[in-house]
Amino acid sequence: MIQKTPVMRKCISCRTTFDRNNLIKITNDHKLGIMLNQGMGRSAYICKSKKCYTDSKLQKKLQKALRSNLSSNFLDIFDMEIANYK
Ligand SMILES: [Zn+2]
Repeated sequence: MIQKTPVMRKCISCRTTFDRNNLIKITNDHKLGIMLNQGMGRSAYICKSKKCYTDSKLQKKLQKALRSNLSSNFLDIFDMEIANYK
């Protein structure tokens, strides 16, 4: 049996702390650029509540948190991901 201690992370939109498993992780990978739920590097988290992932300022908050611009390719992937939560 592997004991799992929940890793808590803060949503960049509502600033509430959640178990990392309940958050959408966006990482600015050193080599591969911005990725969803994978990659190594600076990361930001968004909770799976509609008001957060549809936050009109989310894109700006993410770009600030990741210190990088979001590509349209990433935004397409993100849109597909959040479609699962609606
Ligand atoms: Zn949130």
